Amino acid sequence: MIEMIFASHNQNKTKEIQKKLPSHIVLKSLADIGWTEEIIEDGATLEENARIKAQAIVDKLGVPCFADDTGLEVAALNNEPGVYSARYAGLQKNDEDNMQLLLSNLEGKEDRSAQFRTSICLYFNNEFRLFEGIVKGQILTEKVGTEGFGYDPIFQPEGHTRSFAQMSMDEKNELSHRGRAIQAMVEFLNSSEF
Ligand code: IMP
Repeated sequence: MIEMIFASHNQNKTKEIQKKLPSHIVLKSLADIGWTEEIIEDGATLEENARIKAQAIVDKLGVPCFADDTGLEVAALNNEPGVYSARYAGLQKNDEDNMQLLLSNLEGKEDRSAQFRTSICLYFNNEFRLFEGIVKGQILTEKVGTEGFGYDPIFQPEGHTRSFAQMSMDEKNELSHRGRAIQAMVEFLNSSEF
C-alpha cells in the first residue's frame, strides 16, 4: 500500500479520483491529513501553480503527492482568463461575476472558441512529472443549465449540443479536462514500478 496526498481540501474530488487509481494507492486529501497551512498559488502558469502546491507538500512531508490547477483559455482573449480563472472578476472569486465579465469581454467577437486545461504535477518515486488534460469547445452567448460550477453554464464542449451545466457529473467527468489529466496520470501510475 502506498499513501498519496492530493493537494486539495475537496473530499468529493478526492473520492472521485480514488476510484480511478490503482488499488494499492490510498489517496488522502489535505483535510484527511489535517493540513491547515495556506499554499499561495502565485505562479504565472497552470503548470507553475500545480508545481507550487505539490512542492509545498514535498517540502513539508516528502511523500508521494499530486496537485492540479485548471484554467479556461479563450482564444479571442489571448487565452485569458487562464491562470486567473477563479479570480477573473476580482478576489471575491464569484462564478456569476466571472461569467458576466467573460461574456461582456467577448461581445462582438466572432471567434468564441475556448478550452479548459488542467495541469497536474505528480511527485512520485522522487521525481516531479506533469500531466495535462484539455477539452475544447465554445463560449455560449448566455448561461444555460444549472449543474456543475464555475464557467460550466457558458461552456459547450466540442461535438456536443449542451453546456457542461446541462450534463450530469458522471457525463462531464468522462469528457472533462480534469478527467483527462487524471487519466493520463493514472496510466503512468499503472505502468510504474512500486
Ligand atoms: P481549480 O484550479 O480547479 O481551482 O480551477 C480554477 C477555476 O477555474 C475555478 O475557480 C473555476 O472558475 C474554473 N474551473 C475549473 N474547472 C472548471 C470546470 O470543470 N468547470 C467550470 N469552471 C471550472
